[in-house]
Amino acid sequence: MIGDASNLTCTEFQEQLSELIGTGEDISSHPHLQTCELCRALLADLETIAAAARELFPIAEPREDLWDGIIAAIENDPQSAKPEPGIGNLDDALSEGLSI
Ligand SMILES: [Zn+2]
Repeated sequence: MIGDASNLTCTEFQEQLSELIGTGEDISSHPHLQTCELCRALLADLETIAAAARELFPIAEPREDLWDGIIAAIENDPQSAKPEPGIGNLDDALSEGLSI
């Protein structure tokens, strides 16, 4: 699909955005961004999220035993499947707060 890149709609641009990010090109010089404040703001948000994700998940490949450990923890803890006991305490706390 070849078109005038400066004449894209926001929808068309955003459909290409993930692909553009994947190429590693400098998207900020994209013609659509020169004319569209909305998509500039969107890109800024995405870059902030991507930077945060890199900090939170610096390891590309999760450890192989990670899921095994999570599954084992769930299976070995029957309480994790029963959230009910905490609800009564929450109701008590709420009604106490409301009665003040
Ligand atoms: Zn736009």
